[in-house]
Amino acid sequence: MPIKKYKTYTLQNFDQLPQIIGLSEEFIEPIRTVGQVLPFRANNYVVEELIDWSNIPEDPIFTLTFPRKEMLSKTHYNKVRELLQGNVEREVVKKTVNDIRMKLNPNPAGQEHNVPTFRGKKLNGMQHKYRETVLFFPSQGQTCHAYCTFCFRWTQFSGMNDFKFAMKEADLLHDYLRHHKQVTDILFTGGDPLTARSKILSTYIEPLLTKEFSHIRNIRIGSKTLAYWPYRFLNDKDADELLRLFEKITKAGKHLAFQAHFSHPVELSTDAVKKAIERIRNTGAQIRTQSPVLKHINADPKIWSAMWKEQVRLGLIPYYMFVARDTGAKAFFEIPIEKAWNIFRKAYASVSGICRTVRGPSMSAFPGKIEILGITEVKGEKVFVLRFLQCRNRQLVDIPFFATYDPKASWYDQLKPAFGEKEFFFQKDNLLGKDMDDGDFLWE
Ligand SMILES: *Cc1c(COP(=O)(O)O)cnc(C)c1O
Ligand code: SF4
Repeated sequence: MPIKKYKTYTLQNFDQLPQIIGLSEEFIEPIRTVGQVLPFRANNYVVEELIDWSNIPEDPIFTLTFPRKEMLSKTHYNKVRELLQGNVEREVVKKTVNDIRMKLNPNPAGQEHNVPTFRGKKLNGMQHKYRETVLFFPSQGQTCHAYCTFCFRWTQFSGMNDFKFAMKEADLLHDYLRHHKQVTDILFTGGDPLTARSKILSTYIEPLLTKEFSHIRNIRIGSKTLAYWPYRFLNDKDADELLRLFEKITKAGKHLAFQAHFSHPVELSTDAVKKAIERIRNTGAQIRTQSPVLKHINADPKIWSAMWKEQVRLGLIPYYMFVARDTGAKAFFEIPIEKAWNIFRKAYASVSGICRTVRGPSMSAFPGKIEILGITEVKGEKVFVLRFLQCRNRQLVDIPFFATYDPKASWYDQLKPAFGEKEFFFQKDNLLGKDMDDGDFLWE
């Protein structure tokens, strides 16, 4: 079995990497400069097994994990560089960096609206937006094994790993779920929840396997660990303990849905990831995959088609293609909605039905997950055809709606209702404001 001991690289020590030592300032300065603003963290697996160092800075995994000059505007870049070169105090740099960060839309899609209140208390480690699914952010998983340069969770990274705190948080989570029987899915997310120790994850998960929580059918773990640190499932100290926890979940009759984040086929190519996938699947877990479509990383139908085919061969289920959120280095990664749809369509058309479990491209916006179904013409007007894959008001899911075609639009908030309408159908009559517990469907 492949073995590796975790080594992490940050702004403090990346210049000691043998791969970096030979490089000119032209490569190093952007990492140091942009890295002040966007999160930077890499590890020895990403550096040694995923990045092709003969192809930097264009290499997709280098771009995914190492800051590049073009990720900041020229003005912001020069401002930070000048501060770093001048002899200014750390505090001054910090303040400028914070000002820049605030301009990069650090909290997109109004996520604060999804935080539930229970017994008069705001539950900050949770989001409950769609009726069936609660998102839970264990505070011990608010970091990742490496950081994506496009990440929209960059303001919440903390990386504390405290067991006592976990016990308290677990109590709140369980109490909430005990009193919300309509919830069938709990989705552990982050950061990356698998940066937390197995013992901490057990504290959250094991109580959910008892009869009291029989309404919780699906335990979901959203994680980038297979792509960034597959040794988490191979030789990390508590790797076997983690796999035993997975086994306990499936043996208790729950579905364990591992939602793996893969952005490029190279992440599926190493012996370590293949072995890790095998070990996870042997616990009875199912692995579904998702990623945003990003310029400089995977904006090509051939890449997606190769990725989906390889995933299916390895026993994974393609699940979502996302449009990158409007945050951080969005300008560097963004592609028009039209292009995202064409990439999806061409890739989707080139794989067999078995790969077509995937949906997208999808935008996670304030009203819900909006899928671009296509571009067409209705009565002489060119339009985008859209639908909700998820919606705050679940009665609106799957109903097609139309937006005026706009070749430049790259996010939901740039879209306008088609046919001269003033509002989209869901904006009428406060339809989104309707409580998600508002009665049941007639057919339920
Ligand atoms: C995507 C998402 C979910 C999960 O949606 P599924 O379609 O069930 O995978 C749940 N909550 C929020 C806030 C989400 O963005
Ligand atoms: S793995 Fe997810 S949460 Fe972590 S840095 Fe990448 S996008 Fe952000």
